[in-house]
Amino acid sequence: MKLIQDVQEMQQTVLGLKRQGKRIAFVPTMGFLHEGHASLLREGRKRGDVLVLSIFVNPTQFGINEDLDNYPRNLEGDCALAEACGVDLVFAPTAAGMYPPGFQTTVALGPLTKPLCGASRPGHFNGVAVVVTKLFNIVQPDCALFGNKDFQQLAIIRQMTIDLNLPVEIIGMQIVREPDGLAMSSRNSYLTPEQRQQSLCLSKAIQKVRELFNNGEISVDRLLGEARMIITAVPESSIDYLELRHSTTLQPVETAAADTLFALAVKIGSTRLIDNTVLGGDL
Ligand code: AMP
Repeated sequence: MKLIQDVQEMQQTVLGLKRQGKRIAFVPTMGFLHEGHASLLREGRKRGDVLVLSIFVNPTQFGINEDLDNYPRNLEGDCALAEACGVDLVFAPTAAGMYPPGFQTTVALGPLTKPLCGASRPGHFNGVAVVVTKLFNIVQPDCALFGNKDFQQLAIIRQMTIDLNLPVEIIGMQIVREPDGLAMSSRNSYLTPEQRQQSLCLSKAIQKVRELFNNGEISVDRLLGEARMIITAVPESSIDYLELRHSTTLQPVETAAADTLFALAVKIGSTRLIDNTVLGGDL
């Protein structure tokens, strides 16, 4: 496994591999890897001759009062996990390498970015879209793997890939959870032991909404009302959003159906956690 930090070196390396006819599979991350990332890497290993992992805490997708400076980092641990998952190339650029002086170009996104995380984190998806476009141009992958954990991000990247004819197959992967249900996230490391217990309210709300829906409940108010009760019962919780939306368009729905997305963002103390499920799909 090789670690590359220089943008041009990465681009030249993959260019050489592609000239040899190698198929490149790519997993972009912000590092501090866990089993969720590992599931993407293992699937990527099966889909490419060369597996590339990027680790980059992208400053442009963080708001001014967000956790950019505190975001957990562990390059050594990440490289060990990457190697165990069969990664060939780790691309870990610097912010200065990705955004040299004079950088000014953005990607204009559409309605998919308006609700949910787009509403509470203005500019976030623009930062994501720019960095993903740049990473695609540097790594030139044949396929790229993303988690459903960031459901809206995946929807936006899929649409951007179609709209801009990016020659990359986008593969969505299931959410990997801790045994007790909490969706794995690098940000879970911020939680105190008490908050870690409280964080279960997200997956409990998801389970409750799925259970009610499976028993015939389709009222948006009643489904969200039950979820809200579970979350507000937790002392350190504050709801950012709790919504049922169409899983493809992300538009509001009048009643729940099998293709409805239930998505939520909840702060536990100062840690913002997200989770989601599509009602008719697997958990
Ligand atoms: P991040 O490092 O948080 O930017 O995540 C990098 C990629 O891993 C994104 O495509 C995420 O959706 C995905 N990911 C993060 N957590 C999970 C999880 N628990 N299960 C599946 N994929 C995940």
